[in-house]
Formats: sequence, C-alpha cells, structure tokens
Amino acid sequence: MSIDDQDPIDSIDPSESWGFGTLGIRHAELRSPEMEHSPAIYPTSSYVYRSAAEAAATFLGQREGNVYSRFTNPTVQAFEKRLARMEGGEACVATASGMAAILTLVLTMLKAGDHLLASKGLFGSTINLFNNYIAKLGIEIGYATPSDIESWRAGFKPNTKLVFVETPSNPLTELVDIEALATLAHEHGAALAVDNCFLTPVFQQPLKLGADYVVHSATKFIDGQGRCLGGAIVGDAQRVGKDVYGFMRTAGPCLSPFNAWVFLKGLETLSVRMKAHEQSACQLAQWLSQQPIVSRVLHPSLASHPQHELAKRQQRGFGSIVSFEVRGGRQAAWSVIDATRLCSITGNLGDARTTITHPATTTHGRISEQQRTEAGITEGLIRISVGLEDIEDLIADLRRAFSRAEGG
Ligand SMILES: *Cc1c(COP(=O)(O)O)cnc(C)c1O
Repeated sequence: MSIDDQDPIDSIDPSESWGFGTLGIRHAELRSPEMEHSPAIYPTSSYVYRSAAEAAATFLGQREGNVYSRFTNPTVQAFEKRLARMEGGEACVATASGMAAILTLVLTMLKAGDHLLASKGLFGSTINLFNNYIAKLGIEIGYATPSDIESWRAGFKPNTKLVFVETPSNPLTELVDIEALATLAHEHGAALAVDNCFLTPVFQQPLKLGADYVVHSATKFIDGQGRCLGGAIVGDAQRVGKDVYGFMRTAGPCLSPFNAWVFLKGLETLSVRMKAHEQSACQLAQWLSQQPIVSRVLHPSLASHPQHELAKRQQRGFGSIVSFEVRGGRQAAWSVIDATRLCSITGNLGDARTTITHPATTTHGRISEQQRTEAGITEGLIRISVGLEDIEDLIADLRRAFSRAEGG
C-alpha cells in the first residue's frame, strides 16, 4: 500500500497553498488500518507477499509495494514525502546522517575527471570529506568565496559538474546569492546543491531560487532536540527520485525508521520552533553588539552584516546561529565558554538547548590552519546556536560569563 492510499488528508489538498505549519503537521500523514493518530514506526527489514508471483512483480516494480527497508520503508517514506513538499521538491531520499546525504549526492553525480566547485565556508566535515575522500577518487575539488560572485565565476572549469554551498555558512553566517549562483552554474552546465541545514524550508527554499538539490542534516533543526542523526537530499523526480534513489537502493546509507519517526514529529513543530529560535537570536545579536568584550557579531539580522539586504531578499528569516569574536583570542574565548552555565558546550546545533562552541578547536579543528584562516575562523570566535530557553536567562548567563572572563 502506498502512502497516498493511506493519506486521505493529502488527497484532499494537493495544492501548494498550505503554510509550513500545516504542511509540517498534515502533509503525507501516515496511517495504517489501525487508524493510529500519531504515525507508526515500521521497524521491519523486509516485507511479505501472498505468492511468488506477487513477490516477483513487486521486486520488478510492476506493482506497488514495499521490498526492503534499505529503500522502501513506510515511516521513512512519510518523512521523505513531507520534507520534499516543504522544500518545494518532487522527490526526497533520506539518509543515515547529513554527511551520508552529501556523500550520496557526490557519488551519484560525479565520476573521475569531474570538477566539484565548493564554498570555502562549509561545515568542517564536509571539507574533510571532499579533500580526503572524494579527491582520491580522481574528482577535482575547487573552492570559492561564498559571498563573492566573481570568485565563483573564476572557479568554474569546463569539467565542473557540481557546485556545493551552505548559506548562511557555518559558523560565519556568510551568504551565497543562490539565484545568481544557480544561473552561473547552469551557464556552465553544472548543478547547484545547497546545504539548507541552518534555515530549513521554513526560512529558505533554495529549489525555488534555482538550486537543483537541497541537502539536509536532519540531525539539527529538523530533529530539534538533539536525539537522532539523519539527513536528506531533495530535488526533482529524475535526479533525486531516480538517480539518487538508485544509489541508495544499491549502496544503502539509509535512514532508520525510528529516526525517521523522530524527524516526522520534528517537522510537526519546525515552523514554530524556527520562529522562536530566530526571535531570540535577533535579540541576542543586538545585545552582543553592545558588549565591550565583543569585537564583532555575525548575524544576518544586523544592519552591520555585509549581506543584510540579500538575507532579507532570499530568506524568510535570519536563522538562529549567532557567531561573535571576543577580544583576547583563544584564552578569552575559552574562559567565556567555560564560565557559562546555561549554555551546553557541544558541537551540535539546532537544539532546544542553547549550544556554545569554539569552532577553531572543535568543528573546524581538523582542517588545516591555512584553510581555517582563509575561512575566517579566528581563535576568538565563538558560535552560539540559540535555543528555546527564555532569552533573558540566556543573556544573564552570558553577561556573567563575560564579567568572569574580563576578571570582574
Ligand atoms: C551537522 C552538519 C552537517 C553534517 O550532518 P550530520 O548529520 O552530523 O552528519 C552538514 N552540514 C551542516 C551545515 C551541518 O551543520
């Protein structure tokens, strides 16, 4: 039985008219003949058939039906369908982690001799994946400055097949002009993939701006409470629905049904959570801008952000990752981090709990010092993923941490 057969609400309204709050709760609702209200988890590796002929027809794709949970699982498919719709895509393939999503996309699309053009402002593991593992397959890797369209223009080669970006970037919140870069990529016969982890479809829909693929680490805001790892690739029916799906079916970096269920529940509250995270982040960014120990605050909501206007144009919200530099380098940054009590010292982000990170020695600690400098990850930089605690409590915590670090 396909999800569509089980999904009376989805069949009532196939239009694009629902808002993100409604889509996140109601699109592709999974319902078995037991008529459970909350979606069921299907923890099964395989499925049974009434006859050998039915099995044969199902395996050959001549009749609809589940085959094997590496590539057909009802809970995973419900999550894929809902996220695809929220991103404005035709198809979605869920993966075991965000990194598995990036690996899956690259291995599906590229072969030896191709060129991958990536943003300098990427998640540390993504840079490591490209430099240490993808490069050794004979795929060329190049980098461009996210905010500089001329740097992108100069980065293309005749064999460029894929452009990979994050916007806003981690941790510096540098923006890529998705529409301009998509146009440039297509002129060069390349596809554009956007890691939409920081904003989620609630605040940004890269496919609607011309991107060809959206990649997610569902581990972050989609889960929203730091429980499960997972990822996804969203795009059109051919390139994701057939090509990426074909790789998943064979190679198997797939999402577990339990994790898919957690993410389905996460999507139900994504819209309200993203807005609450963002409201606090904007307040925190303002407050940080007024603190003497802070030399620089990076958040697209600030008029001082070099791409504030672009953020207003291409995003529906500014997001909740706020980075700032404290005077005094690593020692000062570590003292501030150690003196907080409410913030969790962890590399994760997108959690209900506010997290505080020193990127230079954690998330970006394994890339070379030169790459770190080029990416602008200084020793005084601190990244905060603003959670859902009361903003007054968060500010009080940081105020105390600043005064400790200043020796007050
Ligand atoms: C965390 C993260 C990833 C990797 O996702 P995992 O689920 O941890 O594998 C990729 N991109 C960005 C922007 C991230 O923050």
